[in-house]
This record gives sequence, structure tokens and C-alpha cells, in this order.
Amino acid sequence: MLNAMVFRTMRGCPICGGGFNIRRVREYSYETCADCHGVWMSRGTLAGMGKEIAPEAQLSMRAEQINETTRACPDCQRAMKKAWMFRVPLDFCSAEQHGIWFDGGELRQVLERIGQEDPPPAEIPTSFRSLLADFFNQS
Ligand SMILES: [Zn+2]
Ligand SMILES: [Zn+2]
Repeated sequence: MLNAMVFRTMRGCPICGGGFNIRRVREYSYETCADCHGVWMSRGTLAGMGKEIAPEAQLSMRAEQINETTRACPDCQRAMKKAWMFRVPLDFCSAEQHGIWFDGGELRQVLERIGQEDPPPAEIPTSFRSLLADFFNQS
């Protein structure tokens, strides 16, 4: 039957299989799942966004071995690895560094915590709130 022969030729959400929408905010672009609101973005994009919020922040990821269903990288379909960033669990493509996956709401948590790390940046840029508003103006 046709249904059994559907190829995954389109990149899509590793959680629900939904299609991606491209979002552009200022000079950044990333992809979001229209159905579950997950976010797929490159590490470089995340680093750029983080620097706008807190120039001194270190966006380190701690990889973890978590026995949990692995999710496939939308770009290469290989199993992604789990990691923690600012106490938020996320998935990333470790094979080819294609990007980082955030479940719905997790990107916002990370961005908010970048600006509130201990020790906090000397001063949180006044653009912090407006940047968050730009990123999440759909809510
Ligand atoms: Zn989805
Ligand atoms: Zn990949």
C-alpha cells in the first residue's frame, strides 16, 4: 500500500513527524515544528543568540547517558545524544553537529537562564526582554 512506502524525503520533526517552518528573527534563522512547537537550530545560531543576551555566558553542554528513546537527527537521521544546558534537557546531533533540538518551550527556558546564570552577568542587556519577545512573539 502507498502508506507503507512513504519515504522520509522531507526533513521533519523528530518527535511528531510534522513539517518544519523556517523562522527568521533579526539575523538568526531556525526551524520550528508547526505541530509540537519544537525547535531545531544550529549550535552557531544558539551561540549567537546567547551572546546577545549575555556576552560572557558559556553555552556548554553536558552530555549524558540517558536510557531513553533516542530521537533521529532531522538532517542525517542518526540517533541524537542527550545533553543538559542550563539544566534543560535537549538533544543534539553528535555525529555531524547538524544542530540542537529543543522540545516546545525548552529554547525559551535556555534563553531565559542564559541571562540569569550564577554568577549573573554584570548587567543584563536592556535588549534582553525585547529579544525574547522577538523570538517568542507568537505566544
Ligand atoms: Zn513536532
Ligand atoms: Zn545529524
